[in-house]
Amino acid sequence: MKANEIINKLKKREIKLYEVEKYSSSVSEAVDIRRKFIEEISDLKLSKIADYTLNMEAAQKKNIENPIGTIQIPVGIAGPLKVKGKYADGDFYVPLATSEGALVASVNRGASTITEAGGVNVRIIDDKMTRAPVIKTDSGVEAIKIKEWFEDNFQKLKQIAESTTNHGKLLKIDPILIIGNYIYPRFVYSTGDSMGMNMVTIATEKVLDLLLNETNAQLIALSGNVCVDKKTSAINMVEGRGKTVVADILIPSNVVKNKLKTTASAIEEVNIAKNLLGSAVSGSMSFNAHYANMIAAIFLATGQDIAHTVEGSLGITTAENRNGDLYFSVNMPDLPIATVGGGTSLETAKECLSIMDVAGGGKAKKFAEIIIATVLAGELSLLGALAAGHLARAHKELGRG
Ligand code: NAP
Repeated sequence: MKANEIINKLKKREIKLYEVEKYSSSVSEAVDIRRKFIEEISDLKLSKIADYTLNMEAAQKKNIENPIGTIQIPVGIAGPLKVKGKYADGDFYVPLATSEGALVASVNRGASTITEAGGVNVRIIDDKMTRAPVIKTDSGVEAIKIKEWFEDNFQKLKQIAESTTNHGKLLKIDPILIIGNYIYPRFVYSTGDSMGMNMVTIATEKVLDLLLNETNAQLIALSGNVCVDKKTSAINMVEGRGKTVVADILIPSNVVKNKLKTTASAIEEVNIAKNLLGSAVSGSMSFNAHYANMIAAIFLATGQDIAHTVEGSLGITTAENRNGDLYFSVNMPDLPIATVGGGTSLETAKECLSIMDVAGGGKAKKFAEIIIATVLAGELSLLGALAAGHLARAHKELGRG
């Protein structure tokens, strides 16, 4: 069918947006047709969305439906950032995609402070991905029987789950929560270098097939919101999800003064008053200034699932004045990331991952360590700026006195 005919049929709603490929000679032609249709019905020219280098045929297979082109977001670079991790050890340049002016500059200043102080210590303390369906029985007593079914059959269920994947491993089904006659078993997997959500969903589904065959239980939903995917939650704060990562650094007083134009005690006070008390009084689960800024920018640049910024925003910052030196730490319980699968194969994402030497298999832990080091850089820089402002105001007032 000719392009104009397809567009006319789209206008008359005789064919659907997702059917355009069926009548086109290639994916790129289908992309153009769908975009032209939108241009015509909106009386617009979408020449920038049309201008892309991405391999849309590959993207359309697993990353996007009904494509009309791409958007562009500027990507900047921060570094060198000295990281002293178990997997990431050295100086790194970190790509950050954002339209928020000053973010890259701020992270860069933090990176420079860290590097001058000799580097940031980073460690992964846990690594897992979770899926928790919701299952229904007739009563609380029946629900407890289903909980026991999961516990008694764990080794068999593990085998079934792992038959669906080469890299996924079922570590445990825990906790298994019961509310009335509903049961929420939290399946916990290790997923190698993939973020793992598709992987664990497929594996869990296979286990549930057996449950439904062997018992009277009813599956209400494959995700019962105890996973907890893409939402803030206490269970993810406590149990962890994705990579659980910690980072800390002791910054000599002269570096705090020269690089951040403030003092350890001023940063300590801003952290207590803002990140700890302010977050507590507002009922926040993010006891930090802006982890989400760094997470979103790295996730965008490297093809992560950007909705997981919500989870990456969880965590607690500490700051302590140690005789003028600054002890500073960031703690992230919930960092779902990947170096394979999902959007990591998109060409620009692959290039950005390659800048840090974290593209492909065997690199996810190294990537997680670089991410938390970058988060610490951004957090330190912002708290430093706030503390410098607080100091400047104090000095001004003293000067007046
Ligand atoms: P995926 O691209 O579906 O799967 C990863 C694949 O990579 C697996 O097939 C795995 O094979 C393979 N693989 C090759 N080398 C690997 C290695 N070194 N480590 C681990 N796996 C390796 O990605 P996913 O991570 O499972 O899921 C990510 C996608 O899920 C994202 O696009 C995200 O947006 C989406 N998502 C889905 C849900 C959901 O509920 N389904 C929720 C949130 C996000 P084997 O399995 O054979 O090992």
